[in-house]
Amino acid sequence: DRIRKGTSKTREKLGVIEELFTYWNLDDADETLEELEDALIMSDFGPKTAFKIVDGIRDKVMAGQLKTGEQIRAELKASIASLLQQRGGSSELALPEAKPAVLLVVGVNGGGKTTTIGKLANKFASEGAKVVLAAGDTFRAAAAEQLEEWARRSGAEIVRAQGEKARPDTVLYQAVDTAVKSGADLVLCDTSGRLHTNWSLMDELAKCKRSITKRLPEAPHEVLLVLDGTTGLNMLNQAKEFNETAKEFNETVQLSGIILTKLDGTARGGAVVSVVDELGVPVKFVGVGEGIEDLQPFDPLSFVDALFP
Ligand code: GDP
Repeated sequence: DRIRKGTSKTREKLGVIEELFTYWNLDDADETLEELEDALIMSDFGPKTAFKIVDGIRDKVMAGQLKTGEQIRAELKASIASLLQQRGGSSELALPEAKPAVLLVVGVNGGGKTTTIGKLANKFASEGAKVVLAAGDTFRAAAAEQLEEWARRSGAEIVRAQGEKARPDTVLYQAVDTAVKSGADLVLCDTSGRLHTNWSLMDELAKCKRSITKRLPEAPHEVLLVLDGTTGLNMLNQAKEFNETAKEFNETVQLSGIILTKLDGTARGGAVVSVVDELGVPVKFVGVGEGIEDLQPFDPLSFVDALFP
């Protein structure tokens, strides 16, 4: 129900599409399909993804497999769900057998990175896990303070920079070291969201990743990109840029998942589908509010049902 509440604005926007199904005119299927494509684009599905979805539906309409608006609605839901499942792959976190699991969390400032780490810490701590937070954003003074507050609220331990000149990769190394020595289950690594250029940011993140691996060879187990859902297709471009820069770095910081925040405040939730489609990376969680409990594991089927109930 949280996901339904969190997607209410997007669902309202998709009302245009629901109307199409009600008045679906099979005599003029071409025009109606074009209207469907336009409506999907207007709902932030992105031209490429909208085209792909509608093309699949068009084939079935032409082959006489879909006859009523209701059938077409069902086909639309099924194709969005299968796209999310097949293009994205598993939405489950890849947690290792041996502890600790190390998650490296990256993303632009203001996207909700720190809040999301707080919510994740709370989720796992409330399930009984011992959680360590690593304050890896040493460039922004307030970042560690903010993380400290989340550590307090969730009951997690926090590892912060020692001294003015401590580097992010040193902090992350120490956090993983602390977790290994204390038998913690999970390390959540915060990182900086802004440097002078994408290149220098990626360079920094690559160092962070190497430093984690140096302490724990198979870690990090996930690299999660936090994206602000209210920015619609802009976040797609942000994620693409991240991926492109990562490739130039020989993919040392290859993304394993996306966390989409602020879905509750936006009608642009359709962008989830284009992000997964174009990047081929799964959404693993969605943020549906500012509260500590407002994080939902992403499930493609519930998401599609929430958009088209
Ligand atoms: P960071 O700079 O990426 O670490 O971003 P913050 O975690 O500081 O979050 C920026 C703002 O977004 C804060 O005001 C958060 O309360 C808000 N925020 C984060 N996640 C969500 C969400 O899922 N829903 C809503 N409505 N606000 C959120």
